[in-house]
Amino acid sequence: MDNIELLRALSDQFGVSGFEGEIRDWIYAHIKDRADEIKIDALGNLMATINPGRDLVMMLDAHIDEIGIMVSYVEEGGFLRFAPIGGWDPRILPAKQVEIRSRDGKKYRGVIGASPPHIQTPEEQKQALKVEDLFVDIGAHSKDEILGRGIEVGSPGVLRYPFQVLEGNRIMGKALDDRVGCAVIIRCLEHLPQRRPDFTLVANFAVSEEVGLRGARAAARQIQPNVALAIEGTVGADTPGIPGHRCPTRLGKGPAISVADNSIIVNPSLVTFMEEVAKSLHIAWQHKLPLFGSTDAGVIHMSGKGVLAGIVSVPCRYIHSPSSVLDLRDFEHTVSLVKELIYRIREINK
Ligand SMILES: [Zn+2]
Repeated sequence: MDNIELLRALSDQFGVSGFEGEIRDWIYAHIKDRADEIKIDALGNLMATINPGRDLVMMLDAHIDEIGIMVSYVEEGGFLRFAPIGGWDPRILPAKQVEIRSRDGKKYRGVIGASPPHIQTPEEQKQALKVEDLFVDIGAHSKDEILGRGIEVGSPGVLRYPFQVLEGNRIMGKALDDRVGCAVIIRCLEHLPQRRPDFTLVANFAVSEEVGLRGARAAARQIQPNVALAIEGTVGADTPGIPGHRCPTRLGKGPAISVADNSIIVNPSLVTFMEEVAKSLHIAWQHKLPLFGSTDAGVIHMSGKGVLAGIVSVPCRYIHSPSSVLDLRDFEHTVSLVKELIYRIREINK
């Protein structure tokens, strides 16, 4: 499977926070032969271990969940009220296409209804819509029809836009945050037979990052790593009207090494090590500007007796929208960097 097909398969899977079963099953099937041990914990984290029981434990983490919506009320007329799951900007929701999953796993297409400008008053046109004003229309005529389809309070949904290949080495997908991180780890696991580490490596595919770094918190307690890397899709903002100091990362400038975000100040010795490894590969790389966003590294580094944890990210424009865009060369260079960090991890503090 080439990079485009891997990213397509991952991005198009359904996996709202708390409802990650389908994306987890896909990753499980794809990596099960690569791991010496594989387990799924009570929260739904998927942990694949290479070389269990060695003196040094390195954890890789990428989150499998994506932001989405949850049905919060069914109107008598068959419309669905919903709650946002994860950090949406409510202004982008109206008129977006959605997919709601029923109790038995069937998917129903629909749209987030928006009143046309023709019937809005001048005052209404000036106001930003709130989530409470919005609803989903899946073509049902009544509440009974909704319930008959197995959709009810608690049913999850995503903004459903299929993966696209753009010109110029770029791709667009609904869940590149953080399925691109999952893809980086999958590529590293595939590479292990060629350069097998002499320590324990645990790849954690984490649940519920988008609702507060929940899965990684429980996973880190189980894995008890000495060192950890969170692999993310992060904010690329090299777009018109954004000044340099508000642009955390830029597309095409390579993997982004974080010095700090809202959840962690990365140990400077780890930052220096990551920079040196990136320089040795002669690849493009960049710093992610502080302090935008939070990552699983935030909870991992505070687990147990404390963990040396860092973050490598692939820049993604329009993150937390159904159409994020990334540059495939950034993805390739991130894979190269993370592979090399794995093999040289014992060099930290040497
Ligand atoms: Zn993310």
